[in-house]
Amino acid sequence: MRLVLLGAPGSGKGTQAKRLVERYGIPQISTGDLLREAVSKGTELGKAAKQYMDAGQLVPDEVVLGMIRERLSRPDTAKGFILDGFPRNLPQAEALDHMLDEMKQPLDLAILIDVDYDVLMQRLTGRLTCENCGAVFNIYTNPPRQDHICDFCGGKLHHRADDNEETISNRLKVYDQQTRPVIAYYEMEGKLARINGEGEIDEIFQRIVEAIESRLKAGSEQSAGEARETKASAATRPASEGPATRKAVKKKTAAPRAAATSSATKKAAKKKATAKKGTAKKSAVKKSTQKKAVRKKVAAKKGATKKAVTRKTAAKKATRKTPARKKAVRRSPPSLQQILRAVEQTVNREIREMEPQLEQSARETARLLARISRAEQQGERRVARAEEKVQRLMERLRRLQGKG
Ligand code: AMP
Repeated sequence: MRLVLLGAPGSGKGTQAKRLVERYGIPQISTGDLLREAVSKGTELGKAAKQYMDAGQLVPDEVVLGMIRERLSRPDTAKGFILDGFPRNLPQAEALDHMLDEMKQPLDLAILIDVDYDVLMQRLTGRLTCENCGAVFNIYTNPPRQDHICDFCGGKLHHRADDNEETISNRLKVYDQQTRPVIAYYEMEGKLARINGEGEIDEIFQRIVEAIESRLKAGSEQSAGEARETKASAATRPASEGPATRKAVKKKTAAPRAAATSSATKKAAKKKATAKKGTAKKSAVKKSTQKKAVRKKVAAKKGATKKAVTRKTAAKKATRKTPARKKAVRRSPPSLQQILRAVEQTVNREIREMEPQLEQSARETARLLARISRAEQQGERRVARAEEKVQRLMERLRRLQGKG
C-alpha cells in the first residue's frame, strides 16, 4: 500500500503515520523528520535546510526530491510506504508521480486529515515530541503521564524549535498557499480520501483505516472484474482470430488498472477491429477462390499470406508506437495541474495588481478626510462670523428701539 498523508501542520499526520506503520508493516517517510535529522547531524543538506525550517518556509524542491528519491530506492519500501509531509506543493506532487511511474509503483491513496484552524493552533503550541522515539504528546489534549518524559521509552520530551507562534503562522500560510493545491491535484486523480481529523486519536485512526480498507477492496474488486472480463473474452474469442488480438488481450491484462479502462481498452478495441477486418478480407478471398481455378486459389493464398505479413508488420509498428501514445495520455493530467497553477498565479497576480490600487484609494480617502475636516473648520468659522454679525445687528436694533 502506497500512501500519502496530507494535512496542515498539527493535523496529526505524524501520530497517525506511526499507527499505520504498526498496522500495515510499511515504513513512514517523513521529510520533516529526515530534514531535522540532517540538521542535528550538521550535514551540508541540514545546513542548507535549517534557515528555511526556522523561518517556517519550504526547503527547496531539489533538496527534498533528492532525499525522497534516495529513500524510496531502499528495499524496505518494496511492500509500500507512508509519505508524511511530502508532497508539499504541486511540483513535488508531479515529481512524485513521475518517480513512482518509473518504479511502476503508482500511489494508491492520498489521505487528507482535515482539522480546523483554531484546533491546529492549540495542537501546535502545545506539542511535545520525544527526542528518542519521536512520539508526539500535547500539553492540552494528550499530556504525558510524567512531565517532559515519554510514556513509551522514557526519553526526554521537547518543544520543536519551529513550534513557536511566529513560525507556526508562517507554516500555516505556506500550507494555504502551496500545499492546498496538492489536495485538488489528488482529487482530480481520483485518489483523495478526506478524513475528519478532529476527535480522539483512536477514532481518527479508525476513519483512516476504513478509507484504506475500502480502497483496497475497490482495488481487488476491480482486478477481479478485469480477470473475469479477460477470461470471458478469451472463451468467446473465435479460433480464427489472429495473434494480434491475443496480444491485445494480454496487454490489457498487464496494463495498470486505471489505464485499463481508458487507453488499453481503446487500443485493444482498435486492434480487434483491425484483426476482424483482416478476417473478413480473408473469407472474401476464400469465397472468390473457391469459384476459381486451383492455380488462382494458390495465388490468392499467397496474396493473403503477404497481406497477413503486412498487417502483422503494421501491428508491430503500432505496438512500437505505443510508448509515444502512452506519453501523450500521461501528458494530459499535468495540463489540469497547469490550469490549476495558472489559476493560482492569476489570483496571486490579481492580488498583487490590486495592492497599488488599494494603496491609492487609501491615499485618496486620507485626502478626502483632510478636505472634510478643513471644510468643517471653515464652516465653523463662517458660523461664528455669522453669529457675530447677528449679535451686532441685534445691538443696533436695540439702540434704535431705545431712541424711538
Ligand atoms: P514538518 O515536520 O513536516 O512540519 O516539516 C518541518 C519543516 O521541514 C517544514 O516547515 C519545512 O521547512 C520542511 N519540510 C518538510 N517537508 C518538506 C517538503 N516536502 N518540502 C519542503 N520543505 C519541507
